[in-house]
Amino acid sequence: MSVRAVNDLQTSIDQLARTLESIDAAMSGAYDKALNDAIPYAPSGYTIYQLRGNAQKEAQRLLDILTDRYGLPRYELTGIAFAGDLGFGRAALVPKCTTNAGQVETSFVISINEILFLRHYEDFLYIYIPHEVAHIATCLRGGFPIERGETLHAAAHGEEWLQSMKDLGFTEPETHIFHNLDMSPVYEYKLDMGKRLKEVF
Ligand SMILES: [Zn+2]
Repeated sequence: MSVRAVNDLQTSIDQLARTLESIDAAMSGAYDKALNDAIPYAPSGYTIYQLRGNAQKEAQRLLDILTDRYGLPRYELTGIAFAGDLGFGRAALVPKCTTNAGQVETSFVISINEILFLRHYEDFLYIYIPHEVAHIATCLRGGFPIERGETLHAAAHGEEWLQSMKDLGFTEPETHIFHNLDMSPVYEYKLDMGKRLKEVF
């Protein structure tokens, strides 16, 4: 390789590194703005880290209730993954597990949309976190069957999940399959990120 070629290559690498940095800055800038806009809706007097910690503690507390009840070993949640967009308008999710796949997922991380979490903190603590924990408890009990023609979503919120929700004290769990949160702050965040990224290129 000639010295010239090496220099050209180095220039390209430097440019790529700068572009990646700009992409990173655009993405984190949009996320920071979305969180800053959301924080006035969260309970005052707490840092974002304390609120995240509360979510984690509550998830573990609820899961301990269920594993205890079902005579299962305690399952320690590794943490909650917070993100600005989980796709498909989702507020929270856990990895899927099915008995049909032959194997049950062994590592469960709850993902939470942090923009919605800060704006609807109590809904998350009292509805959406229990909802996800009930999925994990179902998986720990061996998963759920998928009937022919049934969607994964319908099967995942079947009898097993409904029972775990009832065991957490929900009298009408079927009303908590879908959320009805205003998604517009999430769409604004995505729009803002798109605009910032456009400026990079
Ligand atoms: Zn669900």
